[in-house]
Amino acid sequence: METRVNSGHRSRQICLSRASSIPDSIQIIRSSRRRTLSLQVKHDGQVIVRAPQTASLREIESFVRKNAGWLRKHLEMAERQRAAEAESSAPPFTMEEIRALADQALRVIPGRVALFAPVVGVKYGRITIRNQRTRWGSCSAKGNLNFNCLLMLAPPEVLDYVIVHELCHRKEMNHSPRFWAEVAKVIPDYKSREKWLKTEGSRLMRRMTG
Ligand SMILES: [Zn+2]
Repeated sequence: METRVNSGHRSRQICLSRASSIPDSIQIIRSSRRRTLSLQVKHDGQVIVRAPQTASLREIESFVRKNAGWLRKHLEMAERQRAAEAESSAPPFTMEEIRALADQALRVIPGRVALFAPVVGVKYGRITIRNQRTRWGSCSAKGNLNFNCLLMLAPPEVLDYVIVHELCHRKEMNHSPRFWAEVAKVIPDYKSREKWLKTEGSRLMRRMTG
């Protein structure tokens, strides 16, 4: 997909001081048939100016600067689209990968739970590692804890947050302000870790098979 803007008239000289949003490499394609300047942002972020054979570099620069806002917007759009495509093309995890993550989780998570349980001030039951598409962890009424094996791909501080979150459910089986106050006692910046799960974490979840 390509987007263009056209200028029907020759651009005049304008102030050159606000050039920061203009990319370094702009490809200029001249043509004797062309009478106007046009700006194009390609899918890969390459910027092309099509110009009449006679247009001076100064005119071209001025035209680009005049359209700097448009350019920035379309460069951002192109980048977002590339990111979305990269994301959707990330392959699903294979069963071997899931199994390896689950093995790792079984080695790592019980120790972290044992570390945080006394900090939260609770006891717990069994720990199970799962490969779910919708949950990072859960806590049953009996105090059995489940954790998603994909947590092994999360930063350690996010893993610790999920563990503390589930342990806090031993005190409050809900997401009330009282529950969040318990979480905040152990992890004051829990919101940024929760945000990681919603953005980066969701991307991982989508790659979960079965
Ligand atoms: Zn919860």
